[in-house]
Amino acid sequence: MNELRITNLSKTYRNGVQALQDISLQIPKGMFGLLGPNGAGKSTLMRTIATLQQADQGELQLGNINIKTHPAELRKVLGYLPQQFGLYPSISSEMLLNHLAVLKGILNRKERKEIVEALLHRVNLYAVRKQKLGEFSGGMKQRFGIAQALLNSPKLLIVDEPTAGLDPVERNRFYNLLSEVGEDTIVILSTHIVEDVKELCTRMAIMNQGKLIIQGNPIEIMESLQGRLYEKTIPKHELQQYKQAYQVISSRLYLGKQIIHVISDSYPGSHFNAIEANLEDVYMHRILNN
Ligand code: ADP
Repeated sequence: MNELRITNLSKTYRNGVQALQDISLQIPKGMFGLLGPNGAGKSTLMRTIATLQQADQGELQLGNINIKTHPAELRKVLGYLPQQFGLYPSISSEMLLNHLAVLKGILNRKERKEIVEALLHRVNLYAVRKQKLGEFSGGMKQRFGIAQALLNSPKLLIVDEPTAGLDPVERNRFYNLLSEVGEDTIVILSTHIVEDVKELCTRMAIMNQGKLIIQGNPIEIMESLQGRLYEKTIPKHELQQYKQAYQVISSRLYLGKQIIHVISDSYPGSHFNAIEANLEDVYMHRILNN
């Protein structure tokens, strides 16, 4: 069970939106980041892998399981944390996890108790296991979401936009938890937040408008812009002029000043500074040029 193989996957919704266009990816054990703006097709891909919907064309294989022909086999080894994750607000995390464990077929009471306790420890919610889920913070809810996704010791864990709305401390704790899981599981993290991928993933892909734009490891991907990226601080009112004269991939305000990043194959002159590319630069460049 060492690899998820996605081959030539395509999906067009009835309204004509081509959400997946000939996507091929091989995803080994570890943390895999799937990055793209809203509407890129990430959720469609995640839901298709999770057997919640079907593609029009293409193949999906996890190790020796053909996901299209044997969806039930896939579900046995799948953990899934969807984007919208409903919780019963008036019961405790321990009770809900126990209940979900029954639904997942862990019927032996003693075994179930051990599994539930171990998971609550693992996601660092043991101390608050009796507290109502409705009182949990966003980060605690997401960690509970991981606990329920891990109930069946999955070989493949899919997490869809898990860090939206988390504060930096909670986000960090969540990253650590996912990294640990990624040591012996294929983890696909779908996100529009570049930092999630930069911090966590050994491999990644960028999607936009249903297409796969680039895949590889984040360092190699960043190197694709090396030697072509320049920065300059400019007066705010000159931004439009610069956009017309140069290939501006990002502009941001820092302490009241406008800083722009431009791509150029040779030194653009006029006091630009050469800088190292980061993943945000690559992302912006690829999304704008797609
Ligand atoms: P992402 O997860 O990257 O935001 P989605 O997979 O949710 O992207 O959406 C990809 C595209 O497909 C979007 O244009 C979206 O509006 C469209 N889409 C998603 N789900 C449906 C659906 N059930 N019916 C029609 N169009 C859909």
